[in-house]
Amino acid sequence: MPAAVEARPRDSRGYPVPAITPWEDDEPRFALTDYGRSAECARGRLCSVCDTLMPRGPVWRVVGAAESDAIRDALAAGRPYRNTAATLEAPGHRACMLYASMVCPYLARPNARRGLTAETPDDMTAHVVRGAVRGALGAVVGFGDYEFAVTRTRVLFRFLDVVEYLPHDTADQHLPELRAELARSGGRPGGGGQPR
Ligand SMILES: [Zn+2]
Repeated sequence: MPAAVEARPRDSRGYPVPAITPWEDDEPRFALTDYGRSAECARGRLCSVCDTLMPRGPVWRVVGAAESDAIRDALAAGRPYRNTAATLEAPGHRACMLYASMVCPYLARPNARRGLTAETPDDMTAHVVRGAVRGALGAVVGFGDYEFAVTRTRVLFRFLDVVEYLPHDTADQHLPELRAELARSGGRPGGGGQPR
């Protein structure tokens, strides 16, 4: 577990609670995204998982099966991938997203997240029959840059320029990559930012 994630508040089972997760009656609602917290993270360039600063440079996100397929196809064809549809899914550190892809069922299966049915390409997943293709579950993707917009009701993100594509078809596939990342960064994903 990245150190900044370890410092997060825990739910009653001991799971760390991401920065953008709303709380209701002292219980985190993992399936939902908190508007205010998401806006705060976007404006402050804070990781949506650990709430500490993301340094200049690439940011990462866990994408669902449909978006993973679209990125793989674009990379295979040698054309740039453009995520023209804005999403409510906020970015984070590489280590935090590798970790989240393994432990968070809503990120591992983003189309399970409530309230997003019309927002993301992930809802296409249900209509597609899949074989045992690598990346069938989704991917951890690094993007060179991102844009955001805070509207009256939502915080929307758009991601540009794929710089890393790590597909997965099982939940624990990124464990070696996460271990290597933590060893490299000394467990501090941003290399600097302090937990608030
Ligand atoms: Zn983080």
